[in-house]
Amino acid sequence: MSPVEFYSPVQNLLLSVLERKNIYIDVKRDDMIHPFISGNKGRKLKYIILKAKAENRKHLITFGGAWSNHILATACLAASSGLKSTAYIRGEQVQNPVLQLCEVFGMKLHFIDREKYKNKKLLFDEFHKNDPDAFFVDEGGFSIEAVKGCEEIMEDLPHQYDHIFCACGTGATLAGIAKGAETNQEKAIVHGVPVLKGGDFILDAVETLTPNLNNIKLHTEYHFGGYAKTKAPLIEFIKTFCSTTGILIEPVYTGKAFYALMDLVEKDYFEPGEKILIVHTGGLTGFLGNYKLFTNPQ
Ligand SMILES: *Cc1c(COP(=O)(O)O)cnc(C)c1O
Repeated sequence: MSPVEFYSPVQNLLLSVLERKNIYIDVKRDDMIHPFISGNKGRKLKYIILKAKAENRKHLITFGGAWSNHILATACLAASSGLKSTAYIRGEQVQNPVLQLCEVFGMKLHFIDREKYKNKKLLFDEFHKNDPDAFFVDEGGFSIEAVKGCEEIMEDLPHQYDHIFCACGTGATLAGIAKGAETNQEKAIVHGVPVLKGGDFILDAVETLTPNLNNIKLHTEYHFGGYAKTKAPLIEFIKTFCSTTGILIEPVYTGKAFYALMDLVEKDYFEPGEKILIVHTGGLTGFLGNYKLFTNPQ
């Protein structure tokens, strides 16, 4: 098995509301790709790593917040691909289980104040400009290569779906899924759920990465206050969902996407008999970073 080949199953959701409304939902369990390489962050890194290797670079340099799924995926995939890794972490020095795991996988961490962090190319040049081994990997893996990796999520699916859902941060994953759907899921509408406020920018990002897609619809009203912000109904939804399905979702990304999908089911947005696929993009660190929200008041 190559460290950058990913496999994940498709699981049917058994919930009484779906039976009642005659809606069929499958979950593409990209969270099951790997315990630490969270779903789409592994997909996004595949062609980045192949490119770095093709250019004979041996050291991935990347960027992220202290609970970043991307940082952890980079640390683990670099280790399994025989590459070194360094990450510049936004903000003051902290310790947490995610950063600890990154270090266990051999990643070097540097904490960078928020102002300086803003210009990643400048940071890269300051420390790695003259290092022929160094390979720049943007925050979250944002790149054309990331889109290519996410296109593969649409391969080998068991059905033709009417609708496909995913959470969006930068839009690269949505772009890949929509591009992959164009060839493999021709009748599907691809729905993006931005987890940030003002998510309409996602359409521009997608257009820049993959021009002329016309199978995309955004649902911008499910951000719950903004990136990594949350509200009580979202936490309640996640608890109910996890305890009735055994599938772990979290409040930063997947919780908002699943909430949006189930809310649209409740509001009869879909026709009876329609088949829907939701891509579980992973995101365990989003749970670890927010676990206190799930403790019941004593
Ligand atoms: C990063 C991430 C996303 C968003 O991916 P983009 O390509 O930035 O839109 C969605 N879900 C999870 C779990 C993520 O970690």
